[in-house]
Amino acid sequence: MFGIGKSKKKVRSNRRKVKREIFEAVVPISLVEQAEAFTAPRGHMEMGGLLIGHVDDKGRNVCAVGIFPEQIEETPSYCEFDGKWMAMCAAAADFANSQIGSEDTPNLRVIGWIHTHPGLGLFLSGIDIKTYEDNLNMTKDGRFVAVVVDPLEGNNGVFLTPDKPRTFISASGSIQMDVELKARYLKFLQRMEEIRGTRGREVLPFILCGDLRAEHVSKGNTDDFIESYLKGIHSTRKDLKRTRKDLKSLAEDSEDRSYLIDRLGELISRNEKKLAEIESSIEVLQKEMEKKILKMNTQMEIREKDLVEAIGKLSESLETKFAEIEMAIMATLIHEEGGSQDIVAEKTDKVETKLAPYFLALGVS
Ligand SMILES: [Zn+2]
Repeated sequence: MFGIGKSKKKVRSNRRKVKREIFEAVVPISLVEQAEAFTAPRGHMEMGGLLIGHVDDKGRNVCAVGIFPEQIEETPSYCEFDGKWMAMCAAAADFANSQIGSEDTPNLRVIGWIHTHPGLGLFLSGIDIKTYEDNLNMTKDGRFVAVVVDPLEGNNGVFLTPDKPRTFISASGSIQMDVELKARYLKFLQRMEEIRGTRGREVLPFILCGDLRAEHVSKGNTDDFIESYLKGIHSTRKDLKRTRKDLKSLAEDSEDRSYLIDRLGELISRNEKKLAEIESSIEVLQKEMEKKILKMNTQMEIREKDLVEAIGKLSESLETKFAEIEMAIMATLIHEEGGSQDIVAEKTDKVETKLAPYFLALGVS
């Protein structure tokens, strides 16, 4: 996306949908290379600038040089620079036209705009189309070119009309120009250097010299391209440094991680040992318990047997004893009572009744 100028003079509502004439365009490789070198280190920030050119003898819109002025708004999807640059470039072109060359020399003019779509791809957005139409409507002959550069992908698109926002050609080759035309362009570029000299470099950070770069620099001007290129390399080196740092910390992280995994493994195997120990000691305990239970059972059986035997013996001896006691009592009674069988039997019954619960408890009948 792209916008030119805060000085938004209402575009006269003469936006009749007339069929626009489409002109061929010439954009040299050098121009987009320089634009890429300048904008690439700015990452995902969009930047916009103006293209200055002429109409060649084949009626083509030739974009030869340009500028990237200070951006008043710069976001990943929108850029804007002051509209006064349009007027300043037009004035500088007029100045060069008046100073250098003959009537046969094509006049320089603002012929297009260039802006970046960092990593966004090549197309004209809704705002781009509006800007393109507005700029076309401001020209007398309907000549204006839109160049979109994706400095992150290294692609560029030259759009010939706002009506086909996805149709473009690519910059190619270089521009053939005679000495006078060249001198005219160099005059224009020098004028831009003057503006930069009085207003400051930050106001005009980049001058696109296109194919005339070497000649412009040989006049003692700074080489914006090389400076940007070096800045690009510097930022690339910084990126590399950062990446190397990231990689290093990643490697350290993974070392930490493998250390943790080792420790976990150790803990698991140590616990496995412990578990095995516990399991085997449980087994031992179980076996011991079983043995003890078995022993107890055997002992219980033996004791039971002993007990039964003892009870048996006891009851036997008790029976004998009782029988003896019975006999003795009977003998005594017979002796004392003079042989009264009935009385003896009665007394014996009494004794037996008294002893009966004891006999019952001992299991003796
Ligand atoms: Zn755009």
